[in-house]
Amino acid sequence: APHSFDVVIIGAGAAGLFCAGQAGQRRLKVLLIDHSDKVAEKIRISGGGRCNFTNRDLDPAAPHKHFVGQNPQFCRSALSRYTPADFIALVQKHGIPFHEKHKGQLFADRSAEDIIAMLLAECEAGGVTRWQPCSVKKIDFLASSASESCRGSYQIDTDRGPVSAGALVIATGGLSIPKIGATDFGYRLAQQFSIPLIERKPGLVPLTFDGAGWAPYAQLAGLALPVQISTGAKKARMAFDEDLLFTHRGLSGPAVLQISSYWQEGTPLAINLAPTVDLPAALAQGKARSRKLVANELATLVPSRLADAWASREADWQRPINEASDKALARLAEQLARWELTPTGTEGYKKAEVTLGGVDTRVLSQQTMECKTQPGLYFIGEVVDVTGWLGGYNFQWAWASAHACAQALPMA
Ligand code: FAD
Repeated sequence: APHSFDVVIIGAGAAGLFCAGQAGQRRLKVLLIDHSDKVAEKIRISGGGRCNFTNRDLDPAAPHKHFVGQNPQFCRSALSRYTPADFIALVQKHGIPFHEKHKGQLFADRSAEDIIAMLLAECEAGGVTRWQPCSVKKIDFLASSASESCRGSYQIDTDRGPVSAGALVIATGGLSIPKIGATDFGYRLAQQFSIPLIERKPGLVPLTFDGAGWAPYAQLAGLALPVQISTGAKKARMAFDEDLLFTHRGLSGPAVLQISSYWQEGTPLAINLAPTVDLPAALAQGKARSRKLVANELATLVPSRLADAWASREADWQRPINEASDKALARLAEQLARWELTPTGTEGYKKAEVTLGGVDTRVLSQQTMECKTQPGLYFIGEVVDVTGWLGGYNFQWAWASAHACAQALPMA
């Protein structure tokens, strides 16, 4: 006979580990399976190795402020029942030192390993059985006869033998960074059970530009500066004030990662390269009192590499500023304040931090993460069509959705 568990959780990443520990501590018999021999590789590399594990600015009552998806309100219930403060309390209980960096972002002082060790200790406290590496070959649902209960059971065929469980939790995450174990398992399983999916796209990802058009900017690779970046028109406009980073192939940095989750293919971005400077006024002043080259005067307002590259684009800007026409200076100010450019694409899942889209939230209960059309099947974490901003929001969604599920899982 197959091993029997109350719940089998597939994916020992952020959401799966947290859910397993919580469910185990409710005394459920839990099996956690991952095809990788390592746990939580994404936590390990997250936040530059320090794991930005949550964000203090998250407002559970207004999830649309920090989450993207067809229905950003879907995550409200879970986020308000398990908040950043709850996770911070757990981190403190485990004696893990942490600090706040930028815009509410919390990081481990020492290493992301501390967060992984904490999640493993929570699993241990819940008596969780963990099989790694272990591949799942096939999953069948056996509907039970109506006389017993309305729930059935899942028969899971693994390379360590068959197991059965009344509940199955899918926590296999998204498609980003395939080289550390991301797969489309969750999406395929959803399809097996006729669960609708929202189209998947790389999110929080650098944007690329075509070779010839990009050539003038390629010399700026490595330059970082604060900008305001925006995309979309009118009501759909989204803007971020963050740092921009020039790369050899295009643009990256927090500003671009954030906007990439909103950018629609074929549409332009608008970038203000000097958002804190009144450029027309500053250039007019420069003209009145200086005989320096336009590029040198501009270099007092924006990084000098940017000033040089920009001023070299027009003959009108390659002269002393007192000799430049008002019109030429106005054009320079205007261009720097509104640099419009259309990306040709993204760096793809190889570089993306997250996957946009996924399991359609319309078929999930926002209280429990259980699928409304398939009893006992739950989806948590990134596999769901809920994507957070850069800054700890994706982990908070992993913790909160895992918590909602763990609290709802039925005892056998
Ligand atoms: P994951 O943590 O990805 O876990 C999925 C697990 O499922 C993995 O262990 C995988 O091995 C397993 N799995 C996959 N396929 C199968 C299969 N077929 N069979 C068995 N197991 C399978 N978010 C933040 O909030 N803060 C950050 O600082 C941050 N930094 C990031 C940095 C990088 C470079 C990347 C790529 C992402 C970062 N993120 C960050 C996003 C965050 O890591 C994810 O949103 C989060 O890990 C999602 O949790 P999850 O449990 O749903 O999926």
